[in-house]
Amino acid sequence: AAAGLGRQAVAVLAQVRDVVVEHEEELGKLDAIAGDGDHGIGMRRGVDAAFTAAETAIGASVGRILTAAGEAWSERAGGTSGALWGSAIIAAGQALGNKTGYSGEDAAAAVTAFVSAITELGKAEPGDKTMVDALLPFRDAFLTEFDAGAPVDRALAVAAAAAESAAAETARLRPLKGRARPLAEKSLGHPDPGAVSFGLITARISQHIDS
Ligand code: ADP
Ligand code: MG
Ligand code: MG
Repeated sequence: AAAGLGRQAVAVLAQVRDVVVEHEEELGKLDAIAGDGDHGIGMRRGVDAAFTAAETAIGASVGRILTAAGEAWSERAGGTSGALWGSAIIAAGQALGNKTGYSGEDAAAAVTAFVSAITELGKAEPGDKTMVDALLPFRDAFLTEFDAGAPVDRALAVAAAAAESAAAETARLRPLKGRARPLAEKSLGHPDPGAVSFGLITARISQHIDS
């Protein structure tokens, strides 16, 4: 049974890989507006490496699988978002540890750990125009639904919708953190690439989780 949750984690990473591949070019173009244009390729490299590392670790605990995946993501992606995604996946894995299945509480702990890893490492504030502007609404919506008694799939669907709309709303912000800052004016009217990719990824995951 220990392999069950690990296998589910690998299946989720396969979904993340697919959605990143589908949007790789679009994410690169978005990052090229005010950044260096590598968000699509960086996410692609990171998630490919993470998926391969996770698959190789099948049979280990979910914590070990996600730690291997996060380390591979950070190493291979390069860039700011790669370091942030890698540490977030490792933190979510540590929250799940060697659990063999997850309760709503476990999912809430994993979501909280994922988001805290990114805010602690990146130190972006709300409104800085980073992925944090999608992460915080995601976490808050998830926890609100969970506290109201919603099952994980429902909480995730509501949270993913919150992340996608928050990502779209970053278009009105000027970037205050990250590489896009020097070209802040160019970024106005366009959403933050890292927020957009997070919204796309969570929406895809929520379509594939049904408990
Ligand atoms: P790089 O900026 O190193 O080229 P990417 O293009 O892959 O890396 O990722 C850019 C994204 O990283 C931004 O759109 C933003 O969402 C996110 N980002 C940048 N700096 C931070 C930070 N300090 N905290 C959170 N997210 C950040
Ligand atoms: Mg970039
Ligand atoms: Mg870069």
